[in-house]
Amino acid sequence: MKVSEKLTAIKEKISEACERSGRNPEDITIVAVTKYVTTDRAREAVDAGILHLGENRDEGLLEKYSFLGDKPVWHFIGSLQTRKVKNIIDKVTYIHSLDRIALAEEIQKRARETVQCFVQVNVSGEASKHGLEPGETLQFIRSIEGLDKIKIVGLMAMAPFSDNEEILRNCFRTLKTLQTEIQQAGMGHAPCNELSMGMSNDYPVAIEEGATIIRIGTALVGEDS
Ligand SMILES: *Cc1c(COP(=O)(O)O)cnc(C)c1O
Repeated sequence: MKVSEKLTAIKEKISEACERSGRNPEDITIVAVTKYVTTDRAREAVDAGILHLGENRDEGLLEKYSFLGDKPVWHFIGSLQTRKVKNIIDKVTYIHSLDRIALAEEIQKRARETVQCFVQVNVSGEASKHGLEPGETLQFIRSIEGLDKIKIVGLMAMAPFSDNEEILRNCFRTLKTLQTEIQQAGMGHAPCNELSMGMSNDYPVAIEEGATIIRIGTALVGEDS
């Protein structure tokens, strides 16, 4: 199916989720996650009007960037090794996976402009998931206050892969609650207005619980049919 057709279907579901939760679809940004697909398919997404692309590995990002340049806004969404920061730092506008001091310090050292960062939080408690524990997130954000190249624009989380809506909802609520707590702390470097949550399997629930950025791969650019 064409990306443009898939996009139409997704926008419909976004509208429905917004209607159920009294939100405005204009407040939701779609990041097309292109990690599984070719550069041509990524280009098709851009041509369909998608302004934001996400990649989870430096190789994938660099390959697609070499063709698409900075026409799309680039989001780095995967766990990021400190030594790879220099490869991507001048190409991405957003990093969704800030989860440790060493990474923050490397971003500070390499960045020429302010980088919009999301702190990744492990809301599911699964050992396999990356991210800070909810209880250590505020302290972490405080501790990087002096790093002027880093702006904490929001929080990011991945729910477990599950069909159980209550499990998903609880994960997203945990992130929302944490966001409120961080906003109340009123830190200049951490406006924390965004919530990056929701993927192909769970974005309607994420939107109902306050997502402002959804990261969609398979359902949007997947070449399944
Ligand atoms: C792959 C990936 C996505 C998109 O996953 P889909 O299930 O294909 O929509 C979103 N976020 C992160 C961090 C990913 O690695």
